[in-house]
Amino acid sequence: MPTPIIAGNWKMNTTVREAALLASHLRGSLGGVSGVEVVLCPPFVSLAEVARTLEGSPLKVGSQKMHYDDKGAFTGEVSPHMLLGLCQYVILGHSERRRDFAETDAIVNRKVRKAMQVGLRPILCVGELLADRQADREEAVVSASLRASLEGVTASESLVVAYEPVWAIGTGLAATSQQAQVMCALIRRLLSEQFGKEKATAIPILYGGSVTPANIQELASQPDIDGGLVGGASLNAAQFTQIVVTTASVRS
Ligand code: PEP
Repeated sequence: MPTPIIAGNWKMNTTVREAALLASHLRGSLGGVSGVEVVLCPPFVSLAEVARTLEGSPLKVGSQKMHYDDKGAFTGEVSPHMLLGLCQYVILGHSERRRDFAETDAIVNRKVRKAMQVGLRPILCVGELLADRQADREEAVVSASLRASLEGVTASESLVVAYEPVWAIGTGLAATSQQAQVMCALIRRLLSEQFGKEKATAIPILYGGSVTPANIQELASQPDIDGGLVGGASLNAAQFTQIVVTTASVRS
């Protein structure tokens, strides 16, 4: 079983000062927790400050985005090499970037391969729309997206996958633990096909979508759910701390 991961996606929230303060609170409340890898993903402009705040602690830092090229004329973009030294993880293929910034599976695939090549741990997000679930095609949609996003990827050691049903993100309507388990088990099977069973067993698969202190216990108890990608609740130090502590106790 992989070490569980709880990653906080702060999205476009917090000034640099607020980000440092939140990171400092979390360092205080979570610096001593063991058995769970904690990853804070602040906005890009706060990465350096948050990294400084967490220096010497076990808490890790992640970026919310990354370009696939090393450098060049890509105004406003962030290169993988710029992230090295600032963070260890990068969220790729989040549904908000797919929806609002036209990130396709093909683009996500280039980013995943690049992140792994330079030594960043990708948290690859896949998930179906509400319309897909209503039409009973969530398994087909997620399978196609995962396969395309991982095309040509041969090494799995640094990979993290997050199952994030789009209808559950920011809505307060989390998937049931059973729905989430079914989809994470599907993802595990697909990873087995690509990397072999042993390697697939070691890949952390996270659930994301309205995770709270109230539902994390049941979610993290599922055999194929190795933690969570947390949006809204990650901005509240007390709630995020509770989510991490509960995950640690469930998995210990
Ligand atoms: C997310 O942003 O990935 C997310 C799951 O958000 P929330 O927890 O707010 O639903």
